[in-house]
Amino acid sequence: MTIQADEARSGAAELPDPSSDPSADAATRLSATRGGEEQGLAERVALALFILVPFTALLAAVPVAWGWGLGWTDVAVTVAMYFLTCHGITVGYHRYFTHGAFKAPRPMRLALAVVGSLAVEGPLVRWVADHRKHHRFSDKDGDPHSPWRYGESVPALIKGLWWAHMGWMFDEEQTSQLKYAPDLVGDPTLRRISRLFWLWTTISLLLPALVGGLVSLSWEGALSAFFWGSLVRVALLHHVTWSINSICHAVGRRPFRSRDRSGNVWWLAVLSCGESWHNLHHADPTAARHGVLRGQIDSSARLIRWFELAGWVRDVRWPDAERIAARRAA
Ligand SMILES: [Zn+2]
Ligand SMILES: [Zn+2]
Repeated sequence: MTIQADEARSGAAELPDPSSDPSADAATRLSATRGGEEQGLAERVALALFILVPFTALLAAVPVAWGWGLGWTDVAVTVAMYFLTCHGITVGYHRYFTHGAFKAPRPMRLALAVVGSLAVEGPLVRWVADHRKHHRFSDKDGDPHSPWRYGESVPALIKGLWWAHMGWMFDEEQTSQLKYAPDLVGDPTLRRISRLFWLWTTISLLLPALVGGLVSLSWEGALSAFFWGSLVRVALLHHVTWSINSICHAVGRRPFRSRDRSGNVWWLAVLSCGESWHNLHHADPTAARHGVLRGQIDSSARLIRWFELAGWVRDVRWPDAERIAARRAA
């Protein structure tokens, strides 16, 4: 099926929008939440359950396993692998490859592609194509993962959050890589790195086990490091990344003007390596820093700054005060 057919397929006819009144639509579009600044109780409860249940299950497993299936080596390996691969996605896949927020010499370009691949979020070219399409249509027909796909009622939003979080990945329709990522498709080495995704996945899953086994000199150590540092780490990073698509397009503050419903969600800032300042990102997609306001933690921007000081990247698009002010919501 062609892209045009794909866009037609997700058209309004098939996806009824209860708020077909154009003035109501314009009013809600100014806010990140349904019905303006106020968020309904049912909507809040649904969202809280959606977020809290998996996290509670994960946290509950920690004290149960501590001492026999979880130790400090596992914690160190898990945290190190989590933030290495998280920044591989945010600095590499997202800010560099998707949006060109800075320029990188060849070795850095390839290193960013490989470290991003270790996050097990799919091959580079596919990730970038999907994400550019998301920006092109953000929260409109054609967006691969908008939580508003099914409409604005609470049941529609719950269904939409599921779609934006994970469901969209099971859609048989794939974003055209030639149309959305011709710059990457045209680079033979990046094509090869993309095609070797199985290899980066294997390395990403085996490395924690290897470290855990060598530190403890035991199979048990290898197994518990594999469980936490590979399985739990990949699952957690997946959910945090997907939360940018679901949660950060459903709730959050909107201090900046964007043509979609992206919001800034402070409590995801550390785990998402600064990507949950998503309202600013949609207002200014090529900026290297997303957390531009006072106190907004953005570890990816910090890392890019260190790379710049080390001379590893150049021409970084730092948002200056004037640029930020111009994008402020009225
Ligand atoms: Zn977005
Ligand atoms: Zn983006």
